[in-house]
Amino acid sequence: MNTDAVKVLPGRYCNSLTEYSRFVTREVNIGDVPMGGNNPIRIQSMTTTDTMDTIGTVEQSIRMVDAGCEYVRITAPSIKEAQNLAEIKKQLRARGYTVPLVADIHFTPNAAEVAARIVEKVRVNPGNYADKKKFDQIDYTDLEYQGELERIFQKFTPLVKVCKEYGTAMRIGTNHGSLSDRIMSRYGDTPQGMVESAMEFMRMCEQLNFYNLVISMKSSNPQVMVQAYRLLVETMVAEGMNYPLHLGVTEAGDGEDGRIKSAVGIGTLLEDGLGDTVRVSLTEEPEAEAPVAIELVRRYTLREKAKGERQKAEAPGENKNLSPLTFDLSPSKHNPYEYKKRETYEANAFIGGHLVPRVVVDLSKKNLKDPAVLNEAGYLYSPLLDKYNMAEQSVDFVYLADELPSFTLPGNLKQLYNYNVWQKLADKTNCHPVFTLQEYISDVDRSSKLNLVRLKPTDIDSDAFGSIQLDNSLVLVLETDALHGMAEQRFFFFKMEELGLDVPVIVKRSYLFEVESRESGVGSQEEQTQDLELKTQNLQLYASADLGALLVDGFGDGIWIDAPELPTNVITSTAFGILQATRSRISKTEYISCPSCGRTLFDLMVTTQMIRSRTSHLKGLKIGIMGCIVNGPGEMADADYGYVGSGTDKITLYRGKEAVKKNISSANALDELINIIKGDGNWIDAVQE
Ligand code: SF4
Repeated sequence: MNTDAVKVLPGRYCNSLTEYSRFVTREVNIGDVPMGGNNPIRIQSMTTTDTMDTIGTVEQSIRMVDAGCEYVRITAPSIKEAQNLAEIKKQLRARGYTVPLVADIHFTPNAAEVAARIVEKVRVNPGNYADKKKFDQIDYTDLEYQGELERIFQKFTPLVKVCKEYGTAMRIGTNHGSLSDRIMSRYGDTPQGMVESAMEFMRMCEQLNFYNLVISMKSSNPQVMVQAYRLLVETMVAEGMNYPLHLGVTEAGDGEDGRIKSAVGIGTLLEDGLGDTVRVSLTEEPEAEAPVAIELVRRYTLREKAKGERQKAEAPGENKNLSPLTFDLSPSKHNPYEYKKRETYEANAFIGGHLVPRVVVDLSKKNLKDPAVLNEAGYLYSPLLDKYNMAEQSVDFVYLADELPSFTLPGNLKQLYNYNVWQKLADKTNCHPVFTLQEYISDVDRSSKLNLVRLKPTDIDSDAFGSIQLDNSLVLVLETDALHGMAEQRFFFFKMEELGLDVPVIVKRSYLFEVESRESGVGSQEEQTQDLELKTQNLQLYASADLGALLVDGFGDGIWIDAPELPTNVITSTAFGILQATRSRISKTEYISCPSCGRTLFDLMVTTQMIRSRTSHLKGLKIGIMGCIVNGPGEMADADYGYVGSGTDKITLYRGKEAVKKNISSANALDELINIIKGDGNWIDAVQE
């Protein structure tokens, strides 16, 4: 495997690691909605109807546009579907919808060439455009590799010529799970392989003087996805290219999991100014995707606006935009293209070192007279037995500030008190102090086991920080209220690395949500429920972007989300969801379910819920649920088991990448899947509560 082929200069993938700055890409024309350059970050999604169902597809497209989609993608598995795009387009235009359409192509160059004459953009997957996955050649000589590229060039050229002639744009969309044998042989299924897979096609386009390109690097693993996009930018820039980026996490799943996983991947890149269009893939109705994407993007639109206003106030008339092809150098030795957990010491077996990241929640404003207050933090209280049972997601620390509970807390739950209160506790068992920086450096009592010190990222340059006495009871709680707080916190980690400090750090973020004021006071019950749902979703998106962006780089020994308007169970579940999505701490079953499309052979939403209802207690297992056998097995990436549609009412079950039961009836496919899991010794019975 030759991984030297893609040269990497660590840190050089965005304009700035410290200040929000959008990476300005080449503007690409897609119908009358251009992308890239200084255009807004565009929102898009994909239909799930059968492309031959013209009315169904038109109506679903309209619902998507009404929900905020600026491009609509439609699958074209063969020539007949590609041809029907003309009818779909005609009917949409007749109803006054001018939304640009995108044809999604896998394996079928002939369908692509038809579609490119009809729609505004075609998406090709370089892993399967001109290749079938055969796995029958695992080693390619340089000559054979070159021969393959020439063969692909011949097959790909006609499509490029059609796109040039018709003014059609093209997305070169690499997927982690469907790389060609050629790429796998040389790079493996790595971010380097993903990047090179797209670069080969991009170079061919440039050779043919075609530049109307958009690029994506999707994976169901946000860590891989983030590394691949970063590496893509680095590689593009080195070759003088700056094509727009289409961001997405594939097979993200549904509900909370889907939102968190998408926001970790997409949000991490948006934080660094990367991304020109976003598609959030949820196993839900496609019109449910746009509002999530819009909310995710809105934060950065506001951030850019705030930055523009600040710059105008500082230096009127001066354009401080960096040239799109130059970057400042990273201040860190940190390699952004590889996951490496920051090395820290283990603070007396509580946090840091090789321990999984810890979760802290604030209960100081809750009813501390009722033991059931801990239910929402994952400690299920039984009044009958007067005892607690731990749930799968039990927090590690509760912050009680200056408040003393009137009941005994479970022995494995650590309590955090403000220093002044902790100092006066008669029994300090399981209780630990939280200091301000000034308190800690003063001559005070300290715990022999664990001392937490709250500070801001900028404190690292202060005299007070310089006079901290280091010992392995010390843990820092890093807080920020900056608009671009993730970058501030990340810079703190860079500096800690430079200073050679291995103190464990808990990353803390606070969120207050504004909901538009109502004329009629607090609003009806229904409105209040809607407000709560909106705030919950926004917490999932914002915290996933802020904390996920640090965790995917290996920063953070613990997380502390503060959101006083939201119930503790929402905060607990969001925190564990972020740790799961960043693969830092596994606390539940992971479902890698595709968003469905015109190829889907069963109702994905219903099936996902059915599989979830019987397997959600299998902590740590990854189950792929894919709508079709054409792309499903490739897209499942690293799932342990797969449930894949292989015909009408027919399912094929996978163990890893191997099909172990083919074309079985969907009526008993879930039972069969459970039998396979049991046979492998990976089954446990669910605990009845
Ligand atoms: S795996 Fe799902 S989304 Fe992907 S092509 Fe198949 S049915 Fe469509």
